Amino acid sequence: MNLDFLNELLLTPSVSGHEEAAQQKILAYTKPFSHRQQCDATGNVLSILNPESPCKVLLCGHIDEIGFIVTHVQENGMLRLAAAGGVRPALYIGAPVQIVHEGNSVPGVVAVMPSLLKSEAVKAKDLVVDIGASSREEALQHVAIGDPVCADTTVRKLLGENISARALDDRSGAFVIVEAMRRAAEKKAAAGIYAATTVGEETTGRGAYYAASQVKPSCAIIVDVTWVSDTPETDPADTGDIRLGAGPVLCLSSIVNKPMNRRLQKLAEKYQIPVQWEIAPGGTSSDADTVNKTGIGVPVALVSIPLRYMHSSVEIANLRDLEGAIQLISEFLLSMDESFSYSPISV
Ligand SMILES: [Zn+2]
Repeated sequence: MNLDFLNELLLTPSVSGHEEAAQQKILAYTKPFSHRQQCDATGNVLSILNPESPCKVLLCGHIDEIGFIVTHVQENGMLRLAAAGGVRPALYIGAPVQIVHEGNSVPGVVAVMPSLLKSEAVKAKDLVVDIGASSREEALQHVAIGDPVCADTTVRKLLGENISARALDDRSGAFVIVEAMRRAAEKKAAAGIYAATTVGEETTGRGAYYAASQVKPSCAIIVDVTWVSDTPETDPADTGDIRLGAGPVLCLSSIVNKPMNRRLQKLAEKYQIPVQWEIAPGGTSSDADTVNKTGIGVPVALVSIPLRYMHSSVEIANLRDLEGAIQLISEFLLSMDESFSYSPISV
């Protein structure tokens, strides 16, 4: 896998609703191994292999990340925010952030306010961003209301093939789907493959709806991150015993297609890819829920990357889990044709 590209994706701000810069990078990366590329009105990018094939496999990895939007610039030049997605505002007190204004990154810090440090429930509205401006006029020369804001972080390599970064949710999934498609293309896959880096998962889910409605796929694999049970104060009784570095996670959910899960499990055994299983009795809180309910219904599987500290600026993923997901999905793509039977019941 191309770790330079993963690094580049992780360093590109892509707050929900403002994903254009990251999508440009996806387009440039997938161009050499796509037969066709497509964009749509909501901002999705689709990289397509074998568009003429009747067997159409949609891959979805969302390209957006959680963050904030500037709502107001105070007289003193400080900025106020609203949440874009499920941020945990208390984690941002005293943190470096960046405001993305017309493609440029404007550095700032979230003011350290004694009252917030004592507060039990810090809301996005309580945070104040200091960009060093001394007046509203000066601030407005560099930022505008509506600008997206996210943590200003780098990618750090930890011990044991672990990396820590902002927005591994879900840039790791977007990375996995384009790498799986690249590998399937190198091995001359015959199935139609539609790698969709979807927008807006963290806020509205609209990207996955647009992508699946356009492609009308035979089936879809969604790649997102999932909770682990190997950090303090987590419990394997919640969704299963999920550990960082123990392999990609398959999902037992009412929305996941059982024959697709069985195919993935067989391929994992055949190629000796360790996998883990998580439980989601109803929906999955991912693009899978949306894709599943488009058109006449779409059979879906969910492949997740184990992630520590989800929705923080110090998320941790393991590179072996990414590699396992890429290998498993590329083998699934190579195995698929029109004869696959999606029904869990035989007539
Ligand atoms: Zn998320």
